[in-house]
Amino acid sequence: MKKHNFNAGPSILPREVIENTAQAILDFNGSGLSLMEISHRAKDFQPVVDEAVALFKELLHIPEGYSVLFLGGGASMEFCMVPYNFLEKKAAYINTGTWAKKAIKEAKGFGEVVEVASSEKDGFTYIPKDFEVPSDVDYFHITTNNTIYGTEWRTDPEVNVPLVGDMSSDIFSRPIDVSKYICIYGGAQKNLAPAGVTFVIVKNEALGKVSRYIPTMLNYQTHVDKGSMFNTPPVVPIYAALQTLRWLKAQGGVEEMNRRAQQRADLLYGEIDRNKLFRGTAKKEDRSRMNICFVMADEYKELEADFLKFATERGMVGIKGHRSVGGFRASCYNAMPLESVQALVDCMQEFEKMH
Ligand SMILES: *Cc1c(COP(=O)(O)O)cnc(C)c1O
Repeated sequence: MKKHNFNAGPSILPREVIENTAQAILDFNGSGLSLMEISHRAKDFQPVVDEAVALFKELLHIPEGYSVLFLGGGASMEFCMVPYNFLEKKAAYINTGTWAKKAIKEAKGFGEVVEVASSEKDGFTYIPKDFEVPSDVDYFHITTNNTIYGTEWRTDPEVNVPLVGDMSSDIFSRPIDVSKYICIYGGAQKNLAPAGVTFVIVKNEALGKVSRYIPTMLNYQTHVDKGSMFNTPPVVPIYAALQTLRWLKAQGGVEEMNRRAQQRADLLYGEIDRNKLFRGTAKKEDRSRMNICFVMADEYKELEADFLKFATERGMVGIKGHRSVGGFRASCYNAMPLESVQALVDCMQEFEKMH
């Protein structure tokens, strides 16, 4: 039976990315060696990193003066690297979910943190709109897509301070104005590659402004200077990321991903709103196009386990909601075909007819 992969992360990748990476693991560039057993300094590997950096810059229209890094440690490591490198006195954060909260916790170890707003009291069901960012902060940190609660910033906020964005779960799904940011980061395992590599886009001139000592490995400048080759980078995930970047470009880039994301979201949210058995959990204007969260309507609560079983038997994978929200979460990352979303919608309609 065909599987429809709605996993939240690690998650769906284009088939050709998996096939090309599998091939390189068997034989890298006809060298007779596996991608897993070559040096990251081999002359054939440098072009992989160079092309991945170039495609990042091209696809996201990254202006001059920015570096693209491929590091280890996950997005969670960036929660501390960001304040280490950029927080001299004071930073602003907005609390929109579990990941934002973790970022805030780390930043507090480095200086004053102003939490400009929080939607925690309302179960993180929306992105606060009424807030003010002090003009004297070093940066304002946002989580552009809240993977667990299914809310998303649709546009970059209008503020007069530099932005830092955790874009782990919506990178390449919509156009962004990189010039507003001094740093954009994310774990690759939601929209780009298998787990193991973290992407960081950093504005070069924003570095070197804090007075503290920064440990070598946690200093962005180290990795900027060495082109992500200060130590051994995650070779296999970077290779896979390159395959995804090539795929993104061939499909029509971010503009096309944006169109597809809207199409998938319209289809699935349309069904959630129409179907009497289900209701969405996030406020409509802040609904994420990447992580679509829904629960059984109150009168049908007892059908939750039945629907999960019904959908699983029809090939749906990974639709159980995060334990802190319950219900269902269909993660629809860039590689998700519309047909899989249609298959889930068909399940919801069939299930409705039975009740
Ligand atoms: C998954 C996720 C993280 C954590 O990523 P790791 O690479 O596992 O550390 C952080 N932020 C967001 C928005 C995420 O979706």
